[in-house]
Amino acid sequence: MSNIQREILAWFDENKRDLPWRKTKNPYFIWLSEVVLQQTTIKQGIPFFFLLIQRFPTLKDLALATESDVLLAWKGLGYYSRARNLQKAAQIIWFNLGGNFPNNQKELMRLPGIGPYTSAAISSIAFNERVSAIDGNVIRVITRLEDIATPVNTATTIQNVSKTAGELLAKNRPGDFNEAMMDLGSTICTPRSPKCELCPVSKYCKAFAQQTVLLRPLKKKKATPKNRFLCLYIVEKNGAIGFIHQNQKGIWRNLYFFPYIEYDSKEAWEGAFKKFKKSGTPYLKPSIHVLTHQKLQYFVVKGDQKEPGQLSFIDIQKISTLPAPILLPKIMDRIQNEW
Ligand code: SF4
Repeated sequence: MSNIQREILAWFDENKRDLPWRKTKNPYFIWLSEVVLQQTTIKQGIPFFFLLIQRFPTLKDLALATESDVLLAWKGLGYYSRARNLQKAAQIIWFNLGGNFPNNQKELMRLPGIGPYTSAAISSIAFNERVSAIDGNVIRVITRLEDIATPVNTATTIQNVSKTAGELLAKNRPGDFNEAMMDLGSTICTPRSPKCELCPVSKYCKAFAQQTVLLRPLKKKKATPKNRFLCLYIVEKNGAIGFIHQNQKGIWRNLYFFPYIEYDSKEAWEGAFKKFKKSGTPYLKPSIHVLTHQKLQYFVVKGDQKEPGQLSFIDIQKISTLPAPILLPKIMDRIQNEW
């Protein structure tokens, strides 16, 4: 066992975070927790984890639920593709694999929504498989420990990080070691204010010695999110609002959202807004909703039943029970306050 590995495990034994999914080796629960945490902080994720295991206590319950039920349980977490993939994978395990949860990384990676990190985390924690789980935290710790100066997210950096992670991995406690690296990255070797004075491996850390800690990992410029220009219609009928159950591929697939028109350019969108404003149609001023890969610039106008699309009219009181993007309740709040 290397000194670094020994120090990290000893630190973990003393300091590990008390998280609900760490009290079990049930691969289904560990999988749920990993998927919840893919784009969510631990603090936000814990209540959702409890809600999901209460709503779907077994893999069978998740596999046999309706998609609408799953999306509803996921409401508030965003990134609904995670929920859809979760259920698809549960159905594959239940119907095609006889309910036997795959017990190694290779087979886990064949399931939808399970990539190299999630598969390694599940297989090392639940089944003690000797594989490294490499996420952003681990990349940060290792690029600092080794003072890796190539940009992160390049093949060279990832290869170097994987090699070091593999060498460091504790052969007899792979799950604990992976969790230890995650905890070290989340609580000590943090992005902006690392607590190097409390770090169990500071004496081996090359970036600490070279004073390059805050330069690691070296960032590559982020791709700019795609701008989209939308006009959303609020169509009201007898105390109900018209929604479209979005069928096409895209960020809102299988969710309920307002009917909308999309413009090709900012100029066309601004021109349309000016026309609506002039016509006296009730409106909400233009606003921006930023997602990871898209920047939605939108305004909202009162429409009528001639607007495009097949509408499902939902009673205003029941809107909060719809599987819907986070933007929908935000707009409903604005309508109540501004119209
Ligand atoms: Fe991270 Fe500082 Fe520890 Fe190096 S010494 S691993 S930079 S916390």
